[in-house]
Amino acid sequence: MLDQIKGVHHITSLAADARRNNRFFTDTLGLRRVKMTVNFDAPEVYHLYYGDEVGTPGSVMTYFPFPDAARGQAGVGEVADVRFAVPEGALDYWHERLAGCGVTALAREALFGVGRLRFEGPDGDRFSLVEAPGDTRTGWTGDVVPAEAAIRGFAGAQLCLRDIGAERELLEFMGYEKTESAGHTTRLVLPGGNGADTIDLAAQPQTAAARQGAGSVHHIAFAVADRSAQADVRAALLDTGYQVTPVIDRDYFWAIYFRTPGGVLFEVATHEPGFDRDEDTAHLGQSLKLPARYEPMRERIAAGLAPIDDDDHGAGAPE
Ligand code: ZN
Repeated sequence: MLDQIKGVHHITSLAADARRNNRFFTDTLGLRRVKMTVNFDAPEVYHLYYGDEVGTPGSVMTYFPFPDAARGQAGVGEVADVRFAVPEGALDYWHERLAGCGVTALAREALFGVGRLRFEGPDGDRFSLVEAPGDTRTGWTGDVVPAEAAIRGFAGAQLCLRDIGAERELLEFMGYEKTESAGHTTRLVLPGGNGADTIDLAAQPQTAAARQGAGSVHHIAFAVADRSAQADVRAALLDTGYQVTPVIDRDYFWAIYFRTPGGVLFEVATHEPGFDRDEDTAHLGQSLKLPARYEPMRERIAAGLAPIDDDDHGAGAPE
C-alpha cells in the first residue's frame, strides 16, 4: 500500500464561458484566482485556477472554459460531486448568500451525519459545501466572504460508478480506508490526509455512462509532496498493471495521469514548484501567464482571449 498520497491536489472541470466561470468562483464562492494561463494543448482556451491564498494543494479548482461548449450529461464513470469544506455552522450563511446570488439547485441535507448544502455551478456543475468542524486550514477571504465562513479547500469528492469494487481497491492501494457505507455509497478517507481527504464511491449499476461537456469534471488530481514521491507512486501503479503517462511538466506542478477501472481520469500531482514560481503571492492570478513554448505567440494568444475581469479590456491589456 502506498503512503505518499496526501489527499486531493486539484480538480479540473470544463466550462462554457470564462467570464461567467471567473465571476462565480471569485465573486460568488469567494475563492482567489491564483493563476490565469492557457490550456497546454489548446492555447486559445484559458486555464483558470481558483483556491486559497497561495493555491495550496487540496484547495485548487481549475477550469478549461471552451466557449460555447455543449453541456455535459451526468452518468457513471465520473466525479459527480465536488465538495468544499466550510466551518461548522456556516451553512446558513452560505444558503442565504448563494440564494441571493441566484445560484440554483440549493438543497440542505445530511450525509453520514454531516450537514451539507448542495448547489449547481453556472454550467450545471454539481457542488456541495460540507461542514468540516476539525478543519484547521485557512480560507481565502478576499473581500467577499467573511473569514468565519470562507471555504477551507476541498473536503473531497463523490465518484459515480457502475461498479465500485475495482475503484475501491485502487483507492485502498493509494492509502485510503473505508470508514462507512450506507445504501449505495461507500466512504473512503485518507488517514492523516490534507483535509481534502474524503472520497465517496456511489454505485449506480443501471445508469448510463457520463458524457463530458461543460459542467463536467475532466479529472481529479491527488497530491504528493515531490517528484521522488511521484516516481514511487508511478512505479507502484505500473507494477500493478495501470497504464500511466510519463511525468509531464505542468509549470506549477509535475503530473502523471492514468484511467481508473471505473472510467474516472486520475492524476497524481506534486506540491512543487507551486503557483508562486512565476509571480509573487500578492499578485497571483492577475496577469496572463503562458507556458514557455507559447511565449513567442503571446500577442496573438492574448488578443484571442476574451477578457474575464469586469474592469479590464483584455488579457493582453497593459498592467
Ligand atoms: Zn490536472
